[in-house]
Amino acid sequence: MKQYIIGIDVGGTNVRSGLFDEEMRCLATHHCAMDQELEPEELIAVLASHVRELSKAAGIEERQLCGVGAAFPSYIDYEKGVLLETSNIFPLNNVPIRSMLAEALQLPVWIDNNANAAALAEHRMGAGRGYPSMVYATVATGVGGGLILNGELYRGMHGMAGEIGHIFVSDSTGYPCGCGVTGCVQSIASGTSMAHYAMEQIQEGAESRILDYAGTLSKIDMVAVGKALRDGDPLAVEVVDRGAEYLGRMFHSINLILDVNVFVYGGGVIKLGDEFVQRIIATYRRYSLTEPYFPATFVKAELGDRTGIIGAALLVPRE
Ligand SMILES: [Zn+2]
Repeated sequence: MKQYIIGIDVGGTNVRSGLFDEEMRCLATHHCAMDQELEPEELIAVLASHVRELSKAAGIEERQLCGVGAAFPSYIDYEKGVLLETSNIFPLNNVPIRSMLAEALQLPVWIDNNANAAALAEHRMGAGRGYPSMVYATVATGVGGGLILNGELYRGMHGMAGEIGHIFVSDSTGYPCGCGVTGCVQSIASGTSMAHYAMEQIQEGAESRILDYAGTLSKIDMVAVGKALRDGDPLAVEVVDRGAEYLGRMFHSINLILDVNVFVYGGGVIKLGDEFVQRIIATYRRYSLTEPYFPATFVKAELGDRTGIIGAALLVPRE
C-alpha cells in the first residue's frame, strides 16, 4: 500500500501544510492564518483539521499516512519534543507539542524549528542538492539558519544548533534582541532592524527617498528601502551596506567554526537584489581565512513558499 506524509509549517502569521507521496511529490496543500493567541489544545485542533483537509483533498484515507512532520518558530528540545520558547506565540512556551500532536492524530510525529526544516528542504530538494555540507541562512523579519554537516541536519547537543542570527557581531550597535543580547546579527541586520535604523536616521534629519516610498515614518520597511536603493538614495545605500557588513561577519564566524563554505541564502530581505548579496559576499571574502584557498559558494534558495512544508515533511524518516 502506498504511504503518505504530511508536513506542517507553523509560522508567526500562517500555518501551511502539504501532503506528499513517497517520492516527495506534493499532492495537496492547505493553509490558514495563524492566531498567535491560540492555546496549545486549540492549535492541535487546527493542525488536526489540516490533516483531515489534506487527506480529503488528495483522496486518501488517513490510515495511509505514515507520519507527520511539523516545524515551529521556536527553540526546541528535540529529544523531548518540547517547544521551549516560541517567538511571538507565547502560549506555546514549554509545551510538549510532539506528544500532544501524536496523541491527537494517532500518528508518529517529528518536530523541529522552521529554519532547520528549511535547511533540510534546500539540501535534499533545493539549492543545496549534491553538497555534502552547507549552511542555510534566511534574512527576513529575523535572521535564522540551519546546518547540514556531512549530509545530516546538525542539531547540536540539545536541538539548538544553527541559531546563527544570534551570533554576536558588534558591541557598539543594534537594538535589543529576544535572545537578550544587543549586538547579535539579528539585532542589526534583520529586515526589522535595518528598517528601524533607516527610520531613526530620518527622524534625526536625514533626507531620503525611503520616506517618500513609505509614506510615513512608521511604515518604513525594507520594500521602501529597496525602492530607494534602486534610485541610488544615499541613506538606502548606507542601510544596505551596514546590513551587509554584519551579515558578512556572521558568515565569516560560521565558516571559522565549521569550515563549511557553501551558503544557501533566502528570506524576504534578499529580494533587495543581487547588489545586496554581492556586498555581503564581499565582506565575507574580506575576512575569510579559507577564501584564498577554497572559494566560497553562495547560492540562492530555490524552494520559495513551499520550503517550510517540504522541510517539515522531510523530518519524517524514510524507510
Ligand atoms: Zn539575538
